[in-house]
Amino acid sequence: MDFLPIFLNIKGRSCLVVGGGEVAARKTALLLKAGGQVRVVSPILNDELGNHLQLGNIIHYAEAFDSKHLNNVVLVIAATNERSVNQYVSESANQLSIPVNVVDDPALCSFIMPSILDRSPILVAISSGGTSPVLARLLRARLETLIPEAYGHLATYAAKFREHVKRRFSSPKKRRLFWERILQGPFTEMVFSGKNRSAQAYLLRSLEHETDELPCGEVYLVGAGPGNPDLLTFRAMRLMQQADVVVYDRLVSPAILDMVRRDAARIYAGKERDKHVLPQESINHLLVRLAKEGKRVLRLKGGDPFIFGRGGEEIETLSQHHIPFQVVPGITAASGVASYAGIPLTHRDYAQSCIFVTGHLKNNTINLDWSALARPQQTIVIYMGLHGLPVLCEQLITHGLPASTPAAIVQQGTTHRQRVVIGSLETLPALASSANMIPPTLIIVGEVVKLHQKLAWFEPVYDLNGK
Ligand code: SAH
Repeated sequence: MDFLPIFLNIKGRSCLVVGGGEVAARKTALLLKAGGQVRVVSPILNDELGNHLQLGNIIHYAEAFDSKHLNNVVLVIAATNERSVNQYVSESANQLSIPVNVVDDPALCSFIMPSILDRSPILVAISSGGTSPVLARLLRARLETLIPEAYGHLATYAAKFREHVKRRFSSPKKRRLFWERILQGPFTEMVFSGKNRSAQAYLLRSLEHETDELPCGEVYLVGAGPGNPDLLTFRAMRLMQQADVVVYDRLVSPAILDMVRRDAARIYAGKERDKHVLPQESINHLLVRLAKEGKRVLRLKGGDPFIFGRGGEEIETLSQHHIPFQVVPGITAASGVASYAGIPLTHRDYAQSCIFVTGHLKNNTINLDWSALARPQQTIVIYMGLHGLPVLCEQLITHGLPASTPAAIVQQGTTHRQRVVIGSLETLPALASSANMIPPTLIIVGEVVKLHQKLAWFEPVYDLNGK
């Protein structure tokens, strides 16, 4: 170990920053955040530091650095672009045994600054010992996904109950066991998902029945987005990492399923067109049963769970059985697919509204309010519309949209198998059929489709025209 990691209390203590540019401003902001009294030595200050001065946040010495500036300071940061000045600061500080950091010059530093993940009061500091700050930053970005914003809140919240717990358990070992159980159980998820009242009630209940394990699992209804794992949310990722069992649909791509915790049991719930492996009823009850066994159940759905996902029905059953659940939104196919196909869903000149509908065929007809759809300056996004495509196009024309209205069908959007076929209401059914489109596909109708030609940016490996 080349450095000793410590967390320094600088509240109300004087810290010196030498330099008046952008880097100095960044370091100043950090010192201020930790409650330090910052003195800045520099003939000139940039706007940000000037602002701090006006607000009375810092003390400014508009002169060259001199060792007298080191009087009574607990640490020094040199951030000038003159190496000789930085060196002089470093030597002067070292003579007085004051910790000194010279930005981007490890040889002149007696301490280095870590990359920080701030979930105050939780702080994670990462250092590469000065060898590769970029690597430290990349690691921090990975931790960002694992340690949600709400960790700080969790720590503060737990602190509120510390005395309570102390009074309840006199033995430190029992206290530790209690906290270990609480912080790894539903309490934490409740705090994370903003269910503070339930969290408090749960904690108080657990305090009363300390020996009962309260073996109730929970369900995470998570939107996995349109298929590309990069489009998962941080929260989805985290819950995928802690689930005991995952119940997933056909729409969830293998790449995403691969990211679920290795040890989690996997249950396929189907949902291919007209070929449901498990009927909706049984899915709802399966979730209840698994949760009652005390499991953390990940119900993973394509796109967003509340958009043509029947997520509402699943949690209704959970709520009837008093099973704790949370819902994590995902990027719905319309926005994911449109972005990756270079088709903005609204546009100042072409569409001021956008409507999402399902094109599911029932007895060869589609029950939609056609006149509400066939309106100018509106984009129509059709989910589950591949089989009904001829009927859809025909009805839209019958209800007044010009046959030449641009229309697109996109297969497996956002993934490397994405294919886009562009035509008009008149030509699209034949084009789609000769292209042999494979589900899932999304249909977009409206003038905005024209923009695809200019705005397409994504280059999937597998391209219809072999381009
Ligand atoms: N809850 C999902 C939609 C479920 S309905 C969401 O919010 O996206 C299933 C339909 O979604 C499919 O028939 C298809 O129309 C559409 N879909 C989902 N993922 C898609 C993708 N990657 N590419 C094209 N269409 C997709």
